[in-house]
Amino acid sequence: METLPESTYNMLRCPVCGREFSIQKVQTYCTDCNSPILAEYNLPHVKKHLDRDEVANRPAGIWRWAELLPVFSPDFRFTLGEGATPLIQIMHPGLSIQPRALYVKDESFNPTGSFKARGLCMAVSKAAELGITDYVIPTAGNAGGALVAYTALAQASAHIFMPKDAPKPNQIEAQILGADLTLVDGLITDAAKQAKAAAAKHGWFDVSTFKEPFRAEGKKTMGLELALDFDWQLPDVIIYPTGGGTGLVGMWKAFKELEALGWIGKQRPRMVVVQADQCAPVVRAFQTNAERAQPWENAQTIASGLRVPVAFADRLILEAVRDSQGTAISVTDEEMIKAQALLAKKEGIFSAPEGAATFAAYQQLINQKWIHPDEKVVLFNTATGLKYI
Ligand SMILES: *Cc1c(COP(=O)(O)O)cnc(C)c1O
Ligand SMILES: [Zn+2]
Repeated sequence: METLPESTYNMLRCPVCGREFSIQKVQTYCTDCNSPILAEYNLPHVKKHLDRDEVANRPAGIWRWAELLPVFSPDFRFTLGEGATPLIQIMHPGLSIQPRALYVKDESFNPTGSFKARGLCMAVSKAAELGITDYVIPTAGNAGGALVAYTALAQASAHIFMPKDAPKPNQIEAQILGADLTLVDGLITDAAKQAKAAAAKHGWFDVSTFKEPFRAEGKKTMGLELALDFDWQLPDVIIYPTGGGTGLVGMWKAFKELEALGWIGKQRPRMVVVQADQCAPVVRAFQTNAERAQPWENAQTIASGLRVPVAFADRLILEAVRDSQGTAISVTDEEMIKAQALLAKKEGIFSAPEGAATFAAYQQLINQKWIHPDEKVVLFNTATGLKYI
């Protein structure tokens, strides 16, 4: 009988000041720096004892990477079948050029129809292992559904604060899965204020983006999976629809860990942030060479997952984009709608507007000759279009 893989999680650290946090306790973020904190692993141990082919031969899904994830007890590795999403090659995109290696990583296959499942699966699994039973989250929509799916599995409670104009399917989904749902008159930033107050009042655990360390670890598995999908040769470019930046920061971390294990080389994809032109705080910071992103006023876009006026992990996002020689661009809602129709009609993918934004960004970057049609490029479709009807 094969032994179960063991987590090598051994440290939490603030990337700004280096302060260490105990892994035995529930942790949030570094209040000295107002920065997220990140998990660390005993990578030399993994390097010595685990072969990448062994991981490739395990059952598919995020827990095949258990050595690089924070949950110690197999009893708390909750699963609804998240991860192992298809990488679909785009063959006839309806553009003037013919891309040779353009792919969509289709995250709509995740439980609850979006990649938020990866992050919330990890956050709830780890918090449950540490004894948490009440969770609170502000959400543009998809994170709420994902949270309550895993709290259902954990026999725990989810308290969700969602803007009242969030897509109806998100609201209904949260209710059917048993959430305590509060609809908020305002944006996700307003929902976040109410969630924070409720958390303080009732002692609920706040799983807002980057206010706890493990949603990023869950989304890190997208980067680990891409390495495996491409036989340990990373793509040239990754185009990512960026709200809070969990996935982008998570993937960048994944690549560092894989290189430390010797499972990939030095080559890195150029990381591209895509935002909506009416809510583009990270793009603005990138273009003005700022270290931090200033809050965006009057944020508006049909891509609810991108309607995030402030990214708590702005420093980490900008660092990954710059270190990778990447870039940050914005697209209009009209461009998203056009790109969504193309992906649907030409490729059979009914993407979320956020996913369509990456295809619109690809077209822009091809036109600017920033991407060559021969380059291996991955677009992220982060949710199904069905959640936006
Ligand atoms: C949350 C969300 C995003 C943004 O994800 P981050 O990793 O937090 O930047 C993008 N697309 C969809 C569909 C989302 O729900
Ligand atoms: Zn700090």
